[in-house]
Amino acid sequence: MSLHKGKLYWPETIDEPKKYQILDEDVSCDVLIIGGGMAAALCAEELSHTRFKTLVVEKGEVAKGSSSANTGLLQFSNDKMLHEFIEEIGEEKAVRFYKSCLKAVEELQQVAGTLPGETGFIRRPSLYYASTENDVSKLKKEYEALHEHGFEVEYLDSEKIKERFGFEKPAALMTHGDAEVNPNKLIHHLLESAETRGVKVYENTEVTEAGRDGKAYKFTSGDYTIRAEKVIYCTGYETVPYRVKDLADLNRTYAIATNPIADFPEWTYRALIWETKRPYFYMRTTEDGRIIAGGLDEEKMDADVTDEKLERNGSRLINRIKEHFPDYEIQAEYKWCATFGESEDGLPFIGPHPEKEGIFYCLGFGGNGTVYSKLGARLLCEMFHEEHDRELAELLDPGR
Ligand SMILES: Cc1cc2nc3c(=O)[nH]c(=O)nc-3n(C[C@H](O)[C@H](O)[C@H](O)COP(=O)(O)OP(=O)(O)OC[C@H]3O[C@@H](n4cnc5c(N)ncnc54)[C@H](O)[C@@H]3O)c2cc1C
Repeated sequence: MSLHKGKLYWPETIDEPKKYQILDEDVSCDVLIIGGGMAAALCAEELSHTRFKTLVVEKGEVAKGSSSANTGLLQFSNDKMLHEFIEEIGEEKAVRFYKSCLKAVEELQQVAGTLPGETGFIRRPSLYYASTENDVSKLKKEYEALHEHGFEVEYLDSEKIKERFGFEKPAALMTHGDAEVNPNKLIHHLLESAETRGVKVYENTEVTEAGRDGKAYKFTSGDYTIRAEKVIYCTGYETVPYRVKDLADLNRTYAIATNPIADFPEWTYRALIWETKRPYFYMRTTEDGRIIAGGLDEEKMDADVTDEKLERNGSRLINRIKEHFPDYEIQAEYKWCATFGESEDGLPFIGPHPEKEGIFYCLGFGGNGTVYSKLGARLLCEMFHEEHDRELAELLDPGR
């Protein structure tokens, strides 16, 4: 399965990405992390502060999976709105989940501040607008739910949107607490930082489960064996485990990065902008003055599309940006398409395998994969110390 196709933007922002060695001996560890993307890097960093001897194995190169197609919006608001979650799973659980996401964005900021290099982490508000008049009542409901539960949110009518952004929409929410990041830089610096505290990282090391050796799980890679007491699958959308297959959809989505433009006078706070329509269009700016935009989701899982289609959808995304900001002189310098996983209930899959003691998953399915992965890294680490939030764990349990 192809995870992405086209010309990605983030890999080009790193001059010489660090190379990691291939596994060339038998090794043992307390925790084996399988995967070398965002989820793995966040778990490795979290575990590097504990007594657990941790190894990371990536079958290709670090940060080359879905994480490099990620558009780097870090939002506590989910594809499913808080009031919708409340209707589906009840107030207590829905608010617990939303608060955990907000806390994960805050923790991402703290971690980014400790890393050896810059990650493009910048706090930004989000503008979530009603795509049509029909969605205004939904936004009002969402405003009430967020406000009641202590989230920082403003309701903007069409006049205020025009004043702050220059374009016309029936209504919007402006939420505070979100951020943007360069996902590739974040992954590389997280792993670099984890290595300084003893975590070992191997690339070009594909592992296969090969039974048990006493309490330990055995994995093989070529001629070598890894023995691990605990294992975290951070394998993203490619290796979807057992029951998760039935609870998740794999789709295809598109994104672009434009040429840099001088500045964004009408784009207040350079907010992250998205909408109520599904699938939704979204956009953000980058440190070097580009616009990244995405959307046009399709119900197909393979990211392998024709160049013509990539070109066509790139132009459609440029037109969507211009609907908001008609004066910008922009072209799509980078266009890509990628596989994208969502769960049916809007929640990620984080926690233990229901039968195999010691096997865990950190699968951040959904539009907020990075935020979910941070939340997951923390939750799993607390689970290993038996001091986790049990209600949250139950909600995100991969065996639910
Ligand atoms: C276009 C697009 C835009 C997105 N935008 C956002 C966004 O704005 N904000 C956000 O929070 N999220 C976003 N996401 C979601 C986010 O990218 C993902 O949730 C997240 O990056 C997934 O990270 P991961 O580590 O789980 O997966 P990956 O980055 O795919 O990493 C998994 C790794 O596991 C490796 N692997 C698999 N099997 C094995 C094995 N047997 N042995 C060794 N290695 C193995 C793979 O090679 C791969 O590198 C977006 C996703 C897409 C596609």
